Amino acid sequence: MENGGGSATRGELPLVFSAPRRGKPPQHWADLTATERREAVEGLGHRAFRARQLSAHYFAGLRTDPAEWTDLPAEVRDELASTFLPPLLTRARELTCDDGTTVKSLWRLHDGATVESVLMRYPDRATMCVSSQAGCGMACPFCATGQGGLQRNMSTAEIVEQVVDGARRLDRGEIAGGPGRVSNVVFMGMGEPMANYKAVVGAVRQLVTPNPDGLGMSARGITVSTVGLVPRIQQLATEGLPVTLAISLHAPDDELRDELVPVNTRWNVDEVVDAAWEYAKITKRRVSIEYILIKDINDQAHRADLLAKVLRRGNWGWVHVNLIPLNPTPGSKWTASRREDEEEFVRRLEKRGVPVTVRDTRGREIDGACGQLAAQVV
Ligand code: SAH
Repeated sequence: MENGGGSATRGELPLVFSAPRRGKPPQHWADLTATERREAVEGLGHRAFRARQLSAHYFAGLRTDPAEWTDLPAEVRDELASTFLPPLLTRARELTCDDGTTVKSLWRLHDGATVESVLMRYPDRATMCVSSQAGCGMACPFCATGQGGLQRNMSTAEIVEQVVDGARRLDRGEIAGGPGRVSNVVFMGMGEPMANYKAVVGAVRQLVTPNPDGLGMSARGITVSTVGLVPRIQQLATEGLPVTLAISLHAPDDELRDELVPVNTRWNVDEVVDAAWEYAKITKRRVSIEYILIKDINDQAHRADLLAKVLRRGNWGWVHVNLIPLNPTPGSKWTASRREDEEEFVRRLEKRGVPVTVRDTRGREIDGACGQLAAQVV
């Protein structure tokens, strides 16, 4: 991988929890709360109501070109735009598939770091899959992002801008299928969201704050996916943000999970499942359990039985298992399960009444599917 990060020992990458400190991205309107925006606008010598006008343009109208802000005097427009809307994401490349309804964007950040986001449009909804870090420090061996190491954390606004771009393009009818809106945001792009907790929770707040101070999305449409940083899962449950939590479990036993999801050596299967169950109890939101099916590694019938056992908390009403056929990544020796093994795995879970679906994977041919985001420029 050209974005090589941490040093490899015995083919294993180290776990990296804190991002290297780099020059911070410029502060942006989407980093600020409504109060901070008013104060900042007044600090420039403008009337406080200008903040509300700018928010209406940015969050409600998705208008970032000051020429369109015709309710503001021209000189005010330019000053507000240059102060509060610095360009954070520059599109370096775009790939589409599924007749233009799946769009992967490669973004260059202010310091040259690169990240990717994927817009997936379905007949009844549109999902933005966003990155929360440039790279990832969690070192999962089946994931292309994890193999590249961690470059840095993204800021709140860098995360929000990925959603705003998708929302704007849908709104302007630039995506196949006519005008539309972003109904869902999943933190399943590059990075471990819980390792960049503050910026991620800040971004979620910008997404769910009603117009014009935020994008006005429903928290129910937002999913935060994690390898299982237990203290952060506990903290997220207290934020009053009923987002869907997804746990990348991938194995029901510690021996195998230690290998597939190295952070398991810190917080093991039982601890992660307990934290997820507490999250479900506190937020009343059903938790998604993500389980990649890898041929002859974690797809045996006995592991399906064990998975059901491990997830049982009285019953399985608190959980939904999402099985994901492994997507190929460069240099990996693993492949997706045989169809009959996948079917048997599903059958074993269903027999016990465990809610389960097999994820319909999008974007595989443009390396835009789960685990394939490596932000390679060529
Ligand atoms: N770091 C977070 C957010 C990334 S989400 C997390 O791991 O949950 C990306 C999802 O795709 C995770 O469930 C991840 O385990 C899964 N994934 C990674 N590599 C994959 C691959 N090669 N094939 C299929 N799914 C993969």
